[in-house]
Amino acid sequence: MSKKALPVQKNDIVNVTFQDLSHDGAGVAKVDGYTLFVPRGLPGEEAQVKVTKTKKGFGFGKLLELTKESEHRTTPPCPIYKQCGGCQLQHLTYEGQLEYKQKQVQDVMERIGKLKDVNVLPVLGMDDPWRYRNKAQVPVGEQEGGLITGFYQKGSHRIIDMKECLIQQEANDLVVQTVKEIANHYGIRAYNERTHKGTLRHVVAKYGQNTNQIMVVLVTKGKELPNKKNIVANIIDRIPNVKSIVQNINPKKTNVIFGDKTEVLWGDEYIYDTIGDIQFAISARSFYQVNPTQTKVLYDKALEYAQLEGNETVIDAYCGIGTISLFLAQKANQVYGVEIVPEAIEDAKRNAELNGMENVEFEAGEAETVIPAWYEKGIKADTIVVDPPRKGCDETLLNTILDMKPNRVVYVSCNPATLARDLAILEEGGYETQQVQPVDMFPHTTHVECVAQVIMK
Ligand code: SAH
Repeated sequence: MSKKALPVQKNDIVNVTFQDLSHDGAGVAKVDGYTLFVPRGLPGEEAQVKVTKTKKGFGFGKLLELTKESEHRTTPPCPIYKQCGGCQLQHLTYEGQLEYKQKQVQDVMERIGKLKDVNVLPVLGMDDPWRYRNKAQVPVGEQEGGLITGFYQKGSHRIIDMKECLIQQEANDLVVQTVKEIANHYGIRAYNERTHKGTLRHVVAKYGQNTNQIMVVLVTKGKELPNKKNIVANIIDRIPNVKSIVQNINPKKTNVIFGDKTEVLWGDEYIYDTIGDIQFAISARSFYQVNPTQTKVLYDKALEYAQLEGNETVIDAYCGIGTISLFLAQKANQVYGVEIVPEAIEDAKRNAELNGMENVEFEAGEAETVIPAWYEKGIKADTIVVDPPRKGCDETLLNTILDMKPNRVVYVSCNPATLARDLAILEEGGYETQQVQPVDMFPHTTHVECVAQVIMK
């Protein structure tokens, strides 16, 4: 189709009715069969839209005026919602968000997995879907000589100052504001991405929701941090629950936040948090789920789906710092965890020790390499739990699962599209998906986390 043949051109103003929401939360409308994606349009709404970009199969638009509003529309409580881009769904009621997420999962099960009859349950949401994040990673910039801490404006690297973030725990907002004030007082310069000069790059705050412990991480360009002692003393003085202050050094020209070197400036190297009855040590760089309330809901569901009676051997693939492994170890005979990041495996071993659990073994490596090797050695799991990154499981791993024939597979996923793809492979190999339970780990964003229960037919 040549560009001329498209039903709309760039800068056209058209009236549309939104039929659906896309996977990234934009309203979906059709103009003579041609799809337009328009941020902040909601299904059922009618609007005047300006076309901003056209491609062969679809285009993009900007909402000019709503002529009919959805009953699910609500006023975003965050004053910087439009500029920030961290949240995509604050204009949709929470109830509407949960419905949207369930439908997203159902749609990809059918479209990508060709799984028509999968039972996708209503999303498990939060009673209070605000102030849930336990980790803030905030870039530092300068404005009129003073420091600012905030977020990169949508689609750019300009930092906008932010006093509070409504999905962040209050403790983290306090840390960021306090560190900004203290650093300002001592004349610390912000790191400048363009010139590669300056000192302070990011302030990272971590909060143990169930222990009330705070970690402050100052990410600097070099080792030098003028007035280090005074800054640390001021932080201790002004943030009562701080247990750990560390400096991470990142000398590279990169937008990756952390560098390789971390030094404890004061207190412990770790803070602790608990999920259920299990305690976890969290270091500056270790991965830990960001919504602890919903993590408990997710892991409880994974454990329920594993249906352990106490005599089973279980494999936890993509185990991170061993969170799910230790949850499973409470109910299983033996758990094996595998994870690609060696530091995470060190953390996992430490966490097992911390909880006095001796029926867990961890190995660093690729799940798709280590699990086949275990199988060759005669390790055979009754249940396999997988929790892969967004790209899903490697096919070699899925094939090993089909060879090993565990009774159950529990699939934890942060990407419904790859979940659907992988469930289809398991179904092809003789398994059946009993149910898919979405859990809302990230309210007001389009992210959907799921746990699927799969059993041998
Ligand atoms: N189950 C953990 C972590 C899940 S995140 C939790 O709930 O906290 C996914 C993990 O998979 C990350 O820790 C990532 O480092 C790891 N990973 C990525 N590719 C991998 C691979 N090929 N083999 C094993 N682990 C991998």
